[in-house]
Amino acid sequence: MPQTLPTAIRNYQADGYLEINWSDGHRSRYSHEHLRVQCPCADCRGHTPEQAKVICGKENVRISSIDPVGNYALRISFDDGHDTGLYEFSELRHNTCQCDEHGTSDAAQEETRC
Ligand SMILES: [Zn+2]
Ligand SMILES: [Zn+2]
Repeated sequence: MPQTLPTAIRNYQADGYLEINWSDGHRSRYSHEHLRVQCPCADCRGHTPEQAKVICGKENVRISSIDPVGNYALRISFDDGHDTGLYEFSELRHNTCQCDEHGTSDAAQEETRC
C-alpha cells in the first residue's frame, strides 16, 4: 500500500488547531491540546500501556514548530517546552485524527479521562 503523505499542513495558531490534507484526499483536524496529550514519545507513552502518562491541563498549549522528519513523520514542538514527539503519518492519518469521521474513536476521546 503506498504511504499516505501530507499534501498541505495548515496551523491555525490562534484557534489552536492543525489541519492536514493527505494524498488520499482525506482532511484531518487536530487540536493542539489533543496532539500534545497524544504525544507518542517514549517519555509520554512509556514502554507498556500501563506506563503511559495521563497528560492533563494542556488546554492552552500551542504548537511552536512543526518539522518534517524524513518521509514518514512530523516532529511537533509545543510551547510548554516538549519537543520529543515524532508523529508518524500513519498514526496521524488513522488514529490521531479528530475529523468528523474519526473524532469519535477511543483514541481521539482519550483526553476526557483527565
Ligand atoms: Zn512526549
Ligand atoms: Zn479523519
